[in-house]
Amino acid sequence: MAADCIFCKIAAGEIPATIRYEDPEIIAFEDLQPQAPHHLLIIPRKHIRTALDLTTADNAMIGHIYQVAGKLANDLGFAADGFRVVNNCNEAGGQVVWHLHFHLLGGRDMNWPPG
Ligand code: AMP
Ligand code: ZN
Repeated sequence: MAADCIFCKIAAGEIPATIRYEDPEIIAFEDLQPQAPHHLLIIPRKHIRTALDLTTADNAMIGHIYQVAGKLANDLGFAADGFRVVNNCNEAGGQVVWHLHFHLLGGRDMNWPPG
């Protein structure tokens, strides 16, 4: 756990979040400022700063995150309509929280190209 990391604190149960899925490796919770009718964040419990810090040891975990994203989209009823999974990496990519996370967005039509 990294000191002063808000997502580490959520994973540790030290600050509240609306958790939709958790297991020993990853956790999914509602985004505080939803950008779509459904907006979850899926994170590894392990503190990883950005997607650039992934190693081959993380390959299975990333695959697991995508499988859970699909399961949540199915369970919440927007998989068939369509959805988006997004990772923002570094400043120009729009990253503001420095603990790896994947946005799962659904419940509306998505725009392309994204802003
Ligand atoms: P990013 O711009 O990819 O780093 O996204 C960070 C996301 O974290 C934003 O969508 C925020 O709304 C969200 N966020 C920040 N703090 C919290 C929190 N305490 N609980 C839930 N979501 C949060
Ligand atoms: Zn962290």
